Formats: sequence, C-alpha cells, structure tokens
Amino acid sequence: MPIATVNPADGETLKTFDPLSEQEIEERLADADAAFRTYRTTTFEERARLLNGAADLLEREANGVARVITTEMGKTLAAAEAEAAKCVKAMRWYAERAEELLAPEYPAAEDVEDSGAVRARVRYRPLGPVLAVMPWNFPLWQVIRFAAPALMAGNVGLLKHASNVPQTALYLGDLFHRAGFAPGCFQTLLVSSGAIESVLRDPRVVAATLTGSEGAGRSVASVAGDEVKKTVLELGGSDPYIVMPSADIDAAARTAVTARVQNNGQSCIAAKRFIVHTDVYDAFAERFTAGMRALTVGDPMEPGTDVGPLASRQGRDDLEELVTDALTQGAQALCGGRRPEGLDRGFYYEPTVLTGVTEQMRIHREEAFGPVASLYRTRDIDEAIELANDTPFGLSSNVWTRDECETDRFAQDLEAGGIYFNGMTASHPALPFGGVKRSGYGRELSGHGIREFCNTTTIWRA
Ligand code: NDP
Repeated sequence: MPIATVNPADGETLKTFDPLSEQEIEERLADADAAFRTYRTTTFEERARLLNGAADLLEREANGVARVITTEMGKTLAAAEAEAAKCVKAMRWYAERAEELLAPEYPAAEDVEDSGAVRARVRYRPLGPVLAVMPWNFPLWQVIRFAAPALMAGNVGLLKHASNVPQTALYLGDLFHRAGFAPGCFQTLLVSSGAIESVLRDPRVVAATLTGSEGAGRSVASVAGDEVKKTVLELGGSDPYIVMPSADIDAAARTAVTARVQNNGQSCIAAKRFIVHTDVYDAFAERFTAGMRALTVGDPMEPGTDVGPLASRQGRDDLEELVTDALTQGAQALCGGRRPEGLDRGFYYEPTVLTGVTEQMRIHREEAFGPVASLYRTRDIDEAIELANDTPFGLSSNVWTRDECETDRFAQDLEAGGIYFNGMTASHPALPFGGVKRSGYGRELSGHGIREFCNTTTIWRA
C-alpha cells in the first residue's frame, strides 16, 4: 500500500511519501533507545508538564489538524474536531492521574512476613521503546490513547501509522517534539507494514500495541510471540445492540442511528447487529430505518453532512461485497444497499438497514466497517444473548432495558469487554477499553491501560 494522502471525498491523490530507508529506521531506533535511558528517570511532574504542553498545542491547533484528518480519511470535520478535543482531555487526564495510577503498592506486612521480608513493595517501572501499529479510523485518538499513558509511565513510543494517514502521522511526531519531549521520545516511522517485522524483532523494541484488523493483529502478535515480547491487541468488533420491551424505544432508535454511523460507520465499537425483541421490533425498525434514511451523505467538510465517504476505495468495495452477499442470499434492504447517486468520484455508501440476515451470510460473522446495520428479531432474553454471542468478536455491547433482572443477566452473560446499558459505547480515559475472543486482548485507558506496558517489579528486603 503506498504511503499517500488520497482524499476519499473525490479519490484524488494529494500527496505521496517515500518510506524511510533502512538507515533512517536504524537512526530512529537508536534515538528511541538513547531517549529511553534518560527519559525513564524523569519525574511524573516533568512528564506531566510535557504532556500538558502537547495537549495545549493540540487544543490550539485542533481545527487545522481536523482538516487534515477529514482530508485523509473522510470523517466529518465536526467529528475530527471532536476527536482532537477528546485527545486533549485524555492527555490532561493521564498527566494528572498517572502518578496515582502507578503509585507503589505495599502488601500488608502479615501477608508477606512468612517470605522473610522486612519490607516488600511493588513498583511500576517503564519497559522501554514500544511500537504502536495504528489504524486510520481515529487517526489521532488511537495514537493518543497509547501515547499518553505510555509516555507518563516513562516509556518511549515508535508510531507506525496506517499508510493512508501520513500527514496526521507526521503531525503527531511533530506535536510531541514541539511540546519539548526529547528527540526519540515519540517518533513517527513512515514505513509500510512489510517493515514492521524487523522493527519488532529489533532488541531495542520491547513491546507492541496494535489496533486494526484481525490479520494485522495476528501477524504482529506472532512475531512478538516469537520474540517473547508483550503485546496489546485491539482488533475488530461486531457489537450487538439489544432492545428489550421495557426500553425507551424512541431513545433506543435515535441512539442506534448514531451508534451505527458514527465515524461514517468505521468504528470497532460501533453497534453493528441490532437484536430487537419481537414485541417492539416493528416500532424500533420503523424509527431506526427512518433515522438512517434521513441522514445526509456528502462532503465531510460541509457542516450539514452526517455521513462522509469511507476511508478508502477498498473499504467501500469490501462493504459493498458484504451487502451484495447478503442480498443475493435473501436479505432485504429496508433502506440503502447501494452507492448514493451523484457522488461517484468519492468512496461513498448509503446508510443501509438489512433484515433477514442468516448465519450463512458473511455479514452475520464479519465486521461491517461502514454504515450498514443488520436487524434481527428475537423472541426472548435467552435468544437475544445467544445471538449476541454468536460472533467471533467480543469487543463491546449495548443493551436497552429498564428491567433490573434483565440487566443483571446481560451483565453476566454477554461475551464482551464492555457492556453499556441504555446508551452507546464510547471510550473514556477512566474506563478500561478492550475485548475478548477475536477482538483482542489487553486493555487500554484507565489504570489497566497504563500498567500494560510497565514492569511490575517486586522489591523485597530482608
Ligand atoms: P489493517 O489492520 O490492515 O491496518 C491497521 C494497521 O495495521 C495499519 O497501520 C496497517 O499498516 C498495519 N498493518 C496491516 N497489516 C500488517 C501486518 N501484516 N503487519 C504489521 N502491520 C500491519 O486495517 P485495514 O485498514 O486494512 O482495514 C481492514 C479491516 O480491519 C476493517 O474493515 C476493519 O474490519 C478492521 N479495522 C479495525 C479497526 C479498529 O479500530 N479495531 C481499525 C481499522 C480497521 P498499512 O496501512 O501500511 O497497511
């Protein structure tokens, strides 16, 4: 895949970039290694000062970087600005909280006295240079979600960003540099995915985090496994959105539209499979479909646009194939199911609601990375849970119910890293984020996220 900015709104290639040479990669690895030796000894106060400085810069530059993001991957300008604001918040949150999240722990004396310890404690020390392989869908947020905790923990970062967001990738490297982080603390590597194996095998790189497809995750995790290096994987999702009879159907249908089409439908935590109890199915289907049909598809720079293009031609073609597979096997489109008219140059797809999806259809098992919803009718809570769990993924899930017994049951039985009731999934700095099954492992954000790339060290004294 060439490293290039291709505007998905019109398919035009605006800028291409040469990948780094082997020599340049070597220089960056050496810089990361050297930076870590010093940076690991900085205080939390110093790290917080630097990270807050980066947050201030990003806040001031939000509109400019948002325009770059919209141009590179097609999300609406409003969504890109909101993404920048979310990053600023997370940076400040980690700057303020990291010391407390990584405070030493002192096991109770009576618990460790039979080990012969006079005193024992647990310290969270940094690991070293961490490689971050990141996707284009939230090109700032996915990176900041890694970088803010990693830098506050005393690690240094090497970013391999997706090939279609090179200008955003370069902006990020530059941001940390201008904020005053020493050269080598956070660097962007403009390289193709083919260069990742040798970077990951380099002994100076100690761990990796990847957000993206299952294939990319498997590839990075197998190399890391071979090298016995820690990984965190945040892969795809096909999140269920369950609506039970006690729900507020208007609110559930309204939120369902946003939950499905946020980020032009290209979010791992977007709701994708709408599982609705038969008693409220018709009411929900009618309101949800009306909401999807009412969305304005068009130029993501225009303020009135709800849904922009998909990020790439390939992404649009993949989504179209999934829908065609379902339609040819008997599914029906309540709305959409095709490219919009008059927007031929860009990678657009109409917001779509499918019914009659069966387990033979690819869309039942695969992630629909675009504004396409599958609507299922269910008889009762047992069937809803079975259907919700009938997926290789387990990232997050949404349930609409006002029944306490149902709430407990869903909270116990849904196979996912997050369960959100009467609302839609959204990540938050204070809440752990990640999945089970093919959605990956490890957690980002919160105290759990910052400790993933720490050396949890036992300090024991006789
Ligand atoms: P990829 O997984 O291919 O891309 C994500 C990142 O991984 C990019 O930086 C990419 O680099 C890199 N990468 C890809 N293959 C490898 C590899 N073998 N070794 C090392 N790094 C690799 O996602 P796509 O853009 O192709 O999207 C495909 C599907 O993945 C989507 O339809 C969606 O289902 C899922 N996805 C999920 C995301 C999430 O948020 N969980 C985000 C993006 C995609 P490069 O760009 O250079 O190939």
